[in-house]
Amino acid sequence: MIDPANILKTHDLKHTKQRVRVLEEIALDKAAVSQPDLEKKLGKEIDRVTLYRILNTYEDKGILHRIMDMNGTANYAICSASCTEHHHHDEHVHFNCTTCFKIYCLEVTVPRIKMPQGFTATTITSTAYGVCEKCNSSAVH
Ligand SMILES: [Zn+2]
Ligand SMILES: [Zn+2]
Repeated sequence: MIDPANILKTHDLKHTKQRVRVLEEIALDKAAVSQPDLEKKLGKEIDRVTLYRILNTYEDKGILHRIMDMNGTANYAICSASCTEHHHHDEHVHFNCTTCFKIYCLEVTVPRIKMPQGFTATTITSTAYGVCEKCNSSAVH
């Protein structure tokens, strides 16, 4: 379980109730949380502009990473501990469920791919599409 207060402290961010709420909301679900969902859940407490600013700060600091889903909507997930400011190490597989449309960060490392000469890859991402654990177990066979 993540500790929002501790994360803010580690990254030298001022402790505000709104910042804590955003982290709590994102840490709640195993799947990534979409921006529209966050707006829906936190709309009463945090206005859109503030939410947007908080998400940007978190992304900059390496606290969150953004994943685009099939419809081009931004989704946010907590970064692994190895992410630092301006240096994301989220080279893991992103799983897009085609049934519930949730995105999961999988603890599966993207294999190192040898680049052709003259190309330097700094980040390699990998996206998988299919049916997630939850949808598979609730499917009627
Ligand atoms: Zn699913
Ligand atoms: Zn991820």
